[in-house]
Amino acid sequence: MVNVIPDRLWALIPCAGSGSRSGAQGPKQYQPLAGRPMVLHTVAAFDAVSALAGILVVVSAEDTMLDFPVLQGLWARTAARVQRAGAGGATRAASVSNGLRALQMAGATDSDWVLVHDAARCLITPAQIETLIAACQTDPVGGLLALPLPDTLKQQSNASTRVAATLPRGDKWLAQTPQMFRLGALLQALAHAGDAVTDESSAIEAMGGQPLLVAGSAQNFKVTYPPDFALAEAVLQARAG
Ligand code: C5P
Repeated sequence: MVNVIPDRLWALIPCAGSGSRSGAQGPKQYQPLAGRPMVLHTVAAFDAVSALAGILVVVSAEDTMLDFPVLQGLWARTAARVQRAGAGGATRAASVSNGLRALQMAGATDSDWVLVHDAARCLITPAQIETLIAACQTDPVGGLLALPLPDTLKQQSNASTRVAATLPRGDKWLAQTPQMFRLGALLQALAHAGDAVTDESSAIEAMGGQPLLVAGSAQNFKVTYPPDFALAEAVLQARAG
């Protein structure tokens, strides 16, 4: 009898950015929100998904040395199946590639699935993660959470911030995370695409793949600019209440 090891599912959370657009002191993913550092909300959502074999948080090598209070005891409070790798790169894509290699070192195989998720999308819910898994697990390519574009889309002119055209929005989606692909295919696609890509899907697309678009939620936004912190805090408080 042949023993077939089922493909496992891993979460990889790039958490090594500097958050320069956020206006926060220190990396935004460690800023306190509703009583705990942002990244812990993100990690908690993934930790509630039992289908995941493990969760790897990719931090900057410098983060272990940073001396600001929210990092005190941060990693000690995460669950045992949450691992941390000080493998952050100069870009998000480099952090993800380094994280994928760390997963390989930890025993993940090329056919295992990896869900890559921004630490700064701290409002992701276990239900949304499970929806993505259910939609992609039997897909030959994989896919991502995304949002059909709600607004009218304008293209600016080259010379100024004036409207050059209004683009049809019926076929446009805003890409979110998690993005779920096979480890081997993703590592190869990122190596081919280079460090400039801002999501995993772009790299898979450049290899000819057509990832599945799975409808997400507007609440799964990426905390990026100063006002985003208050909005994320309000949503977290409302959920807790
Ligand atoms: O900067 P941005 O908001 O696009 O980053 C998205 C996610 O990628 C964040 O969670 C951030 O910490 C992470 N990142 C990273 N390594 C970098 C840049 C960003 O892990 N060099």
